[in-house]
Amino acid sequence: MVAVHDGVATDVREAVNAAASPFRFEVDGPQLYRLLDEIEGRGDELGAIYHSHTRSEPYPSQTDLNFAALWPGVEWIIVGVARDGEPLVRTYRIEEGRVTEVELEAA
Ligand SMILES: [Zn+2]
Repeated sequence: MVAVHDGVATDVREAVNAAASPFRFEVDGPQLYRLLDEIEGRGDELGAIYHSHTRSEPYPSQTDLNFAALWPGVEWIIVGVARDGEPLVRTYRIEEGRVTEVELEAA
């Protein structure tokens, strides 16, 4: 989870994959809300959620779309692999099932 303030990332918090699987992720709700409380307690907001696709391109899966429906306004940073095996990072907005790629700038 990436905390932001005025659109600038201020902190990165790791959440444990409750599915304990390299093929899919599940986030345990209480853990997520605890991290969210910590982020908001400092006056920041949840700006992005990142995860990786260990064997596919960094494009939102159906699971990601379903999960994103619960988190409107949050950007999705996905680390995946290109066809040549190189790591690729892409960022998306997912609103009402529509996927739009957005720019992620290094500060
Ligand atoms: Zn995914």
